[in-house]
Amino acid sequence: MDCVEFDKKINPYLHDELSDEELNEFLLHLASCPKCSEELEINYIVNEGIRRLDREKADYNLSLAYTESTENSRRYLARRKGTIRLSYIIGTLTFWCMLMVVFVYLRILIMGS
Ligand SMILES: [Zn+2]
Repeated sequence: MDCVEFDKKINPYLHDELSDEELNEFLLHLASCPKCSEELEINYIVNEGIRRLDREKADYNLSLAYTESTENSRRYLARRKGTIRLSYIIGTLTFWCMLMVVFVYLRILIMGS
């Protein structure tokens, strides 16, 4: 992902509209590009500031909220990756168990005749 693409994804990111794949690329670029990181922080603060003004909440630190927000995104993605890996492992185990069952069944068939 380059800076232009990143810029286009800022709004979807702030509204939780990115797919896991997009979020992954987004966070990778965020970690490697200080310019976009700054851009996102400004956008986040404006966006979140307006949202919180609506709720008339005065005691907040937007810069800290921004850091927490990107941390949450990273954690979310790490969890998703863990889930995908786990389902892959379970899928593989299931496959081998099925294969064993077929193998044992065939052996019984052959030995029985
Ligand atoms: Zn960039």
